[in-house]
Amino acid sequence: MTLASGLLQWHWWQPLLYTLILTHFTIVSVTVYLHRHSAHRALDLHPAVAHLFRFWLWLTTSIKTKEWTAIHRRHHAKCETVADPHSPQVLGLRKVLLEGSELYKEAADADTLKRFGNGTPDDWLERNLYSHRFGNFSGIALMALINIALFGPIGITIWAIQMLWIPFWAAGIINGLAHYWGYRNFESPDAARNISPLGIIIGGEELHNNHHTYPNSAKLSSRWYEFDLGWAYIQLFKALGLASNIRRGPVVYRQADKCLIDADTALAAANDRFRIMAQFKRQVLSVHLRQDHRIRASAGRHYRRLNQWLTQGQEQWDEARQEWMQEFFSKHPELHTLYHLKEELDQLWTLRTRSKDELVEAFKAWCDKAENAGMQTLADFSAMLKQYSLQPVPVRS
Ligand SMILES: [Zn+2]
Ligand SMILES: [Zn+2]
Repeated sequence: MTLASGLLQWHWWQPLLYTLILTHFTIVSVTVYLHRHSAHRALDLHPAVAHLFRFWLWLTTSIKTKEWTAIHRRHHAKCETVADPHSPQVLGLRKVLLEGSELYKEAADADTLKRFGNGTPDDWLERNLYSHRFGNFSGIALMALINIALFGPIGITIWAIQMLWIPFWAAGIINGLAHYWGYRNFESPDAARNISPLGIIIGGEELHNNHHTYPNSAKLSSRWYEFDLGWAYIQLFKALGLASNIRRGPVVYRQADKCLIDADTALAAANDRFRIMAQFKRQVLSVHLRQDHRIRASAGRHYRRLNQWLTQGQEQWDEARQEWMQEFFSKHPELHTLYHLKEELDQLWTLRTRSKDELVEAFKAWCDKAENAGMQTLADFSAMLKQYSLQPVPVRS
């Protein structure tokens, strides 16, 4: 069925496709330009591309680069505290889900813009149009006129969806749900979670735990089964010469023939501490839980939660769990040793702000303990840690 309204003759699916394409460009503008480029400086964009994104955000959202950047940087700097502009852990999930955009407006005060808004555009167009009090809204008004001209009255519905797209997906789902629900690859110091391993709908922003662990990385996926659509766009821009200086988390290496611990080893490992802790959980703790069948039998209905409890620090256990775990550890001393070593490894990274020598000595002591514990997985893990280096190839003297 062909419908004629507005300038076009169209089939029913065409306005639908039009809406999806336009909102998709808006999502890409938010994740690649606002988030990764402007707020975190994780990549440089060709000025023409950066400006195209600014123009698109003006036309479809009325978001101002400086405001969004400053509020987002404050979110990272003050995460899950009262100064965090949109923490569901502090404000409650319902408020962040339903009033995400209002929270942005409230947070855009002069102090936040001054402290966190450095390095954002301040040219003639920004001052007189994109961030101007009236000019800012002329973009979305123009968008409404374009939609109505193309599709007639249904253009208003398309416009309403466009206006709700970012408040719903970014301000509500990401700022709310991604600090509340989902899985965690890394024990980042905040409550950030990955909502889905496939970051498609919100352009990779779904991988929020990875992002909070390595906020300056332009790539948000981390495990082999995770996909970050924003990263695919960045690769495309790079291939076209439109993106450069692309950063990817801590740059550390592993040298196969390295087996001594020096400052280079300790500093490289400290830089990669979140990944190391995640590996310890997967390659040592989880493997032990799977392989020691007595554990499954004696844990009973608690077996499925054990992995999670062992990832936590003791202070996160309530009294009943403390008691249960102590009794459980007394029956499984090997598991107790592993848990203890996990806690000590975690403690080690707090020394990275002290002297290098202290860090190296503590690192050596941990590896000695792991190797003398009589478990192959621990010995292998210790050998892996010793391979860490900040140098890409062995330094020959
Ligand atoms: Zn966040
Ligand atoms: Zn961020």
